[in-house]
Amino acid sequence: MTLKFYLPNFEDMVDPDYDFDGDQPSPKRKDRWAHDKFAHQFFPDEQIFDGMLISKASLSPAVEERIKRAGGVHAFTHLDSDIPVMGDCGAFTYILEEEPLYTVQQVLDYYLDLKLNYGVSLDHLAFVTIEMLEKAFEKSKIKERWWAGQTTEKIQRQRFNLTLQKAQEFWDLHARQKPGFTPIGIAQGGTPELYYEAVEKLIEIGYEYIALGGLVRSKDQDIIAILEKIQSLIQDNIQLHIFGVARLSLIPHFLRLGVTSTDSAAPLRRAFLGTGEDNYWTADSQKYAAIRVPQVKGRQGKRGVDSVQEVLKRNGRLSAESLEELEQQTLRTLRAYHQNAITLDETLRTVLAYDKLYGIERDYTAAYQRTLTDRPWQQCGCPICKEVGVEVIIFRGNNRNRRRGFHNVKIFYDQFQRVVQNPTEHEVQSGYQLQLEV
Ligand SMILES: [Zn+2]
Repeated sequence: MTLKFYLPNFEDMVDPDYDFDGDQPSPKRKDRWAHDKFAHQFFPDEQIFDGMLISKASLSPAVEERIKRAGGVHAFTHLDSDIPVMGDCGAFTYILEEEPLYTVQQVLDYYLDLKLNYGVSLDHLAFVTIEMLEKAFEKSKIKERWWAGQTTEKIQRQRFNLTLQKAQEFWDLHARQKPGFTPIGIAQGGTPELYYEAVEKLIEIGYEYIALGGLVRSKDQDIIAILEKIQSLIQDNIQLHIFGVARLSLIPHFLRLGVTSTDSAAPLRRAFLGTGEDNYWTADSQKYAAIRVPQVKGRQGKRGVDSVQEVLKRNGRLSAESLEELEQQTLRTLRAYHQNAITLDETLRTVLAYDKLYGIERDYTAAYQRTLTDRPWQQCGCPICKEVGVEVIIFRGNNRNRRRGFHNVKIFYDQFQRVVQNPTEHEVQSGYQLQLEV
């Protein structure tokens, strides 16, 4: 058995005919779900993941309906029928709620209607604490203190039990209704002992495909300790998925400890989230900052970047028109740099001067200098970089940012496969622990 990489994916689409010079969507783009393309559609000649993961929570009812009408998720996303699609509930979205948002029957119907290959039982994340809940309450993310009179230990134990109870219900319904997908039983734990207890129970129920959830934020050594603890339960007939932790550093351990699949949104998400210094990944394991050129028009407020109104207010002599001219000049400068028509110093000066207007607090001078000096986008042969050139390194809007994410997925998948094929030969860097924001 080998180790498979699943890409969590759904809203991740771009306009294939986007006009980068005019910053306009294609005139043919009447309906984004029909016109826009998914990551894999930009790589027709090669695979960039072994499977796709779709959370119920990431789809609106209208989109679910469209997928159903299209004849299932493979048809809707133009995905090769040999490539499996796994569904889960997306428990992160309701971590703050007292109960999961769905019933077991709703979840089962969703997997069935969308014609998924694998469906994960309904779960509730067990690592929530009263402190997290109180913080979210202060930020008005929760309306009622439903945890009054409870303790963290009690809530975590309830969720642990609830997840197992839902796994039993899911198994029973699946046995009765016999939908076409393979059921996966998910364990939420916290400690190696709790995961052991959960996995033992899931195997006893009858599951041959087990998933461990709630480990996205865990350190490598904690994940390894859990896997070592449950190892005696993982016989050859058992497949094992670990949610959210496809880290290169863990691959040798996954292979050793019987993990058969994992997933990670990091290659896609890091393109436009995080520290801002690791947006663009390369085949030789470098990570570069993308160069920010905030949009004057049609931009929603972004974290750490002032709105156009704020920029104009602070820079009293600047009009909206002149701000736009500076924006366009910055874009032209980057394109000229790509063509070797302008020096690095001048490019850097222009980019930083425009950046500063937006009150970006962090100093990107060194990071941008490194990106511009090394020109990594010009060394990548992937279809995205070949087609759009310097646009892929510009931090600006969905069409550039998500394309960069698609490129990262391709780079990551190649590395992932190399390590899987030769786990001892690679000096593996540690992966990301995604921070969960509540
Ligand atoms: Zn590329």
